[in-house]
Parts: sequence; structure tokens; C-alpha cells
Amino acid sequence: MSRFFSDKFAALAPYVPGEQPQDMQYVKLNTNESPFPPSDKALRQAAESTRAMNLYSDPDCRALREKLADFYGFSADEVIVTNGSDEVLNFAFMAFCDAAHPVAFPAISYGFYPVFAAVNGVAYEEIPLRADFSVNADDYCGIGKTIVIANPNAPTGLLLPVSEIERIVASNPDNVVVVDEAYVDFGGESSLQLVHKYDNILVTQTYSKSRSMAGARLGFGIGSRELIQDLNNIRNSTNPYNVNSATLALGAAVLDDEDYTRRNCATIMENRAYTTAALRGMGFEVLESCANFIFARTPKMDGGELYRRLKERGVLVRHFTRAEIADFNRITIGTREQMDILLNTIKSILEAA
Ligand SMILES: *Cc1c(COP(=O)(O)O)cnc(C)c1O
Repeated sequence: MSRFFSDKFAALAPYVPGEQPQDMQYVKLNTNESPFPPSDKALRQAAESTRAMNLYSDPDCRALREKLADFYGFSADEVIVTNGSDEVLNFAFMAFCDAAHPVAFPAISYGFYPVFAAVNGVAYEEIPLRADFSVNADDYCGIGKTIVIANPNAPTGLLLPVSEIERIVASNPDNVVVVDEAYVDFGGESSLQLVHKYDNILVTQTYSKSRSMAGARLGFGIGSRELIQDLNNIRNSTNPYNVNSATLALGAAVLDDEDYTRRNCATIMENRAYTTAALRGMGFEVLESCANFIFARTPKMDGGELYRRLKERGVLVRHFTRAEIADFNRITIGTREQMDILLNTIKSILEAA
């Protein structure tokens, strides 16, 4: 730390992203990326826009906002487009949390939430999960705090029904409820329908997982006009050109090839069922995932140990050291071939143990 670093950040513990090691080629199942590239058709369509890179990108992201609004049944002023959904989440912490509106989220969830709270100087409450790792909606009803819930949750993959989200939203009318739907396209049920009914819900989604664009950095939020206006105030006070023009063009082109996205999601869901069944057959406990990853543990080996042995053998998964989930590993669902390598490697590790 330099002697110039602001005291207000002295205690900040930054978010630690999943490893992106460059030392060798891994079977990479640790950061929930798609194993499939973006559609060729979309890439070709978007390539032309890179010629206009001498110009700034559209600060209103108008074309993409209109497209997303059409696609999901909203108007363009109910949509904000951001640099990954991490950015819209951070904007929401900036806009809707303060001393009078502290924030609450599940104790086991996306590791970025406590960091967003800390960097924005906001007090946060971590609400424990049930013993079966599910979110208990009752714990959030009428609590009078800003609420952030990933649905499906990460790293568990468990889904809360929209009816439960609605109870939370309806019982906290003076607070914003942010529903982070990063994984909703893998068999989840979206809470977007609630945006038509309540002015205190913000739904965020991302192109990083189901739409194969993690490296392009594109996310969006959908909520009432007023909520979106607040988020735009923050955006225009930090980085009005927050999304680059190539990403904007690719994001629009990808929506024109929705069949490709649907097929890829269907493949991931098939491979998820296949991998879940195979691991259960080997004695693993695997939570019922609605995401493009599974969360699994075996009584035969400590989670950290399994993670290390897989890595030595070229298979990368994500292990979290937090005590309640240290037995588990989070495994991204990839191609059938990647899943077979994972399963064979686990089999040989457990046989040798
Ligand atoms: C991956 C992820 C995000 C955001 O990813 P971006 O790449 O910034 O869009 C948000 N929430 C959860 C729960 C995630 O897993």
C-alpha cells in the first residue's frame, strides 16, 4: 500500500476471481464460462462495427437497449446496459444502499456482494442459508433493507421459485430487491415478470454465461423507469462510455441468433444431468442445480484435496475455503468430452486414495 492510499479503503479485501492460469492448458471448469464460442453468424455481423472504433461508443447504448427491451417485453427506458453484470450490481449498491438502507444477502452467495458493500462503505448483513443450502424467503420478508439475491444462487445452483421472490419484494415496499439472474437461462424461472408489477425490483442478467461472451463484458439490468434513471445517474457520473462498441454490436447480433443460445443451453443442461447422475453413482452428494455448474462433495475426500489433485491432473474446478462449504467443489458444466475427462479423473483419484 502506498502512503497515499485513502484510509477509507485501507481494510478493503478485494474480490478474488477464479484462476485464469496461463502455465498450461487445463480442462477449465472453474469460472462458469461457456465452452462454446459466440455464434459465427453474430461474430461476422458484429465485425463490421469495429471499423467505427475511431468513434466513441453510444453512451445511451440505444440500439441494444431497444433490442433487449423488445426481446424481454419492456420499454427501452426500463433497461440499462453495463460492462458485465458486475457493473450494474455495483451501480445498484452505489444507488440503493446507505446508512438508512443497509444491504442483506445470503451468507453463501456470490463473493462479490460483500466487496461491493465494503467498497461503497455500506453495512451488510449475511443471512445464513438453511441446512440444505437453500435460501429461506421468510428470512427476507419485511426486513426493511436493500436485498440482493442470486437466483439461481451461486455456488449452490439452487433455485428459489418466483412466488418466493415475490413475497420478498412485496413485503419490502420501501427497499430495492436486486435479483441477480446470471444463471437463469439454464432452467431457471425469471423474476422479470415482477418488474411489471412492483417498482422496487431490479433484475440483472449477463451475457457472460449463457451467451458465451464472458470476455466481451456485457450485462444489463431491468427495472422501473425510475430505478433505471437512478442507475444511469451513477453510470453517467462514473463512465458514460461503459460498454465498448464491438461488445454492443456483438450483444445485439447474438440476440438475432437466439436458436444458437437455446441449443447451447439445452446441451449444458443435458451434460449437467449426465454429470450429476455419474457423480451420484460414485457416491457424491450433488445439489440440484439450475445453473451451468454443479456443487458436489464426496465423503471420501476433503474438498480442497480433491481440488488440488484435479488441478495436478489438468482439471480446474473452484473450491471455496469458507468452512460451511469447504467439503464442496463447484464444477462448471462443459462439453460432454470435458465432463468425461472430469469423471474419469475423479474416478482415478478416488481409486488411488
Ligand atoms: C458470473 C456472475 C455475475 C457477473 O458476471 P459478469 O461477467 O460481470 O456479467 C454476477 N453474478 C453472479 C452470481 C455470477 O456468478
